Amino acid sequence: MYPIATQTVHNIVYSMMSDRVDELIEKISDAPDDEALVQRLKDQKSLIFFRVSVITDQRTVLYDNYTKRMLGPRFDKNLIFNHPEVEEAFEEGVGYYEGFSKLLNQQFIYLATAFDFHGKTYVLRTAFPYKFVADMTHDFKMGFLGVSFAVLSLFSLMIWFVIQYLTRPIHQIITAIKPFQEGIVKTLPEIKVDVSPEDDFGKLASTLNALSAKIQSQFDSLNKLLEMRKDFIANASHELKTPITVIRGFAETLHDHPDLPPETAENITEKIVQNSKRMTSLIKDLLTLSDIENIPQSRLIECDIYSIVQDCISTVREVYPEANIVVQNTFEGNIVADPSLMELAIGNLLENAAKYSKSPAKISVIIEQEGDFLKLKIADQGIGIPEKDLERVFERFYTVDKAHSKKLGGSGLGLSIVRTIVEKHFGKIEVSSILGKGSVFVVKLPIR
Ligand code: ADP
Repeated sequence: MYPIATQTVHNIVYSMMSDRVDELIEKISDAPDDEALVQRLKDQKSLIFFRVSVITDQRTVLYDNYTKRMLGPRFDKNLIFNHPEVEEAFEEGVGYYEGFSKLLNQQFIYLATAFDFHGKTYVLRTAFPYKFVADMTHDFKMGFLGVSFAVLSLFSLMIWFVIQYLTRPIHQIITAIKPFQEGIVKTLPEIKVDVSPEDDFGKLASTLNALSAKIQSQFDSLNKLLEMRKDFIANASHELKTPITVIRGFAETLHDHPDLPPETAENITEKIVQNSKRMTSLIKDLLTLSDIENIPQSRLIECDIYSIVQDCISTVREVYPEANIVVQNTFEGNIVADPSLMELAIGNLLENAAKYSKSPAKISVIIEQEGDFLKLKIADQGIGIPEKDLERVFERFYTVDKAHSKKLGGSGLGLSIVRTIVEKHFGKIEVSSILGKGSVFVVKLPIR
């Protein structure tokens, strides 16, 4: 700002001086002779602002209002005037110079302009004290500063208001989230901003809301998952603890009473073996459950379900030789699956059908195509499942009659293993049953 102000003041002073000089020249240049010229100059008091001199083509001072006043009779009109601005004016028409006047003992701005006087070149020289220029510059600078400051303050204020207005939705978002951040509320609050939903901040708010809803639902399902895991561990520990307690009790009895009758000892040993087997099958089931959580892609191959069913039937017949199992197969082709897991799932369903039927069990297996699905139906005429338990038989460790299941060597994990295997193959399993009449399990697996 300072250089601009100084330059501006200089320009103003220069143009003011040059205007005055031009005006004066106009007034004096048509005087008939030197004397008349001087007289005319003297008459123009209102145009003469400080010091004015006229220098002739002979470089003599024709007139100098100030020097004459100062020097009085000592003023010599033949005084050769060789100031730089005068020389410049003689050479180029106009001369400008800033310098110190020894005569007047102060800094001056000089402007000299040449003009034609009856065919001769005369120069009119004006001087303006630098002090006035400095004062003007100072006033100008102060004014400039004042205005600049006022404008800047006004702009700052305006910008502050604009920023406040623009960032209002951000403050609203922060205020909305704060209680959650500080732990005052447990769920992420809904963010409301008073701008149109089409506005970027409106969009941001709805994105954040969608995001927090998603996070919330993930939180909820994670909590359910953790809850399930806790239940599972509690159930698994409990199921494992029971046979261990029994084994330990019987082992201690054998140890403390070495003289037990052989039949009793044999009975006890049999119980120990039975419970060990139970533990082994329980551990096997638990390992299977964790194993089927991640089925590697490499284990999925083209499987012939009919032959898997045949293998399962042979296995079941080893335990239930009297079982009457009829297979009806209309499905031609293969499905992509893990064959050993398929065998495990179908084997479990067949085993349950035999296990929960009065001997001899009557079981029918139907394999057919239904749209893009392979449908496998296993129906028995066994004890059936009460309606209230139908929904829950696929849960881990769930048994309709705990004592009965235990007696039959069941742990309540079989159907949950079946469902997990089916779901991992993108299939579905359903059950329907009539108590005392029998149950039907239907598995649907996508062909592709
Ligand atoms: P378990 O090891 O007890 O057999 P499952 O998970 O295989 O466990 O089955 C859960 C429960 O569902 C069983 O305890 C039984 O009560 C019931 N259930 C399963 N299959 C049948 C069936 N075919 N007929 C009647 N009840 C069944």
